[in-house]
Amino acid sequence: MPALFVGHGSPMNAIEENEFHHGIREAAARIPRPKAILCISAHWETDGISVTASNHPPTIHDFAGFPKELFDVQYPAPGDPLLARRAADLLAPVTVRLDRERGLDHGCWGTLRAMYPDAGVPVVQLSLDANAPPPVHYGLAKRLAPLRDEGVLIVGSGNIVHNLRMIDFRRQDGLDWAARFNDAVKARILAGDNDALAGYETLGPEARLAVPTPEHFLPLLYVLAQHRPGDTVSFFNDKLVMGSISMTSVEISRMQS
Ligand code: ZN
Repeated sequence: MPALFVGHGSPMNAIEENEFHHGIREAAARIPRPKAILCISAHWETDGISVTASNHPPTIHDFAGFPKELFDVQYPAPGDPLLARRAADLLAPVTVRLDRERGLDHGCWGTLRAMYPDAGVPVVQLSLDANAPPPVHYGLAKRLAPLRDEGVLIVGSGNIVHNLRMIDFRRQDGLDWAARFNDAVKARILAGDNDALAGYETLGPEARLAVPTPEHFLPLLYVLAQHRPGDTVSFFNDKLVMGSISMTSVEISRMQS
């Protein structure tokens, strides 16, 4: 299976039939329909690592100030407790807590609703350990690699540039520093320099502005860690919006044999 990093941006992208929603849908249409999805979203940080392990993970509306229409959305994809256990086994000896209560956050269901509106693909969400530095996340993510051969699509959901304090809702593009950082990250992705990306703080003076907190950047590392020799890397939804949000999304695909 391929692996996808999706820039999710505003929660409204889950329901608005806009260019980003369509870009995500087209990405899903390009790839084989997976047996299951393992999603890593910016919006689930925990002390240690947890994984959703119920048969029916609820839809979590973890945002405020949006229309009722968005709160009314349900994404009733089934869970996959066996995949949850498998992910935990792959990450051993790190302890992974199987969480049978937790549902899917909007970074996860907002993205998957655009990809698979029928909610027919089972979904497991893996949390981000809030205590782990970025290179540790990258190392953990590499251990998930066997899932690609088991029909599991790994989806990271975040944003390469994500600075809510500097948002300008009137802008349809990115501020100069945001575009520079986004370009620097894309160049490293194309060069396969994932170690530099795991140390993104040193990518330039813009890094502090582009990634003021790590949680929206980290899901990218989970996807890049799936890259194997001979894979192709491409971008979609490759735009900046509102000055300080990058929607740039990454698809890692195996070369057709
Ligand atoms: Zn977000």
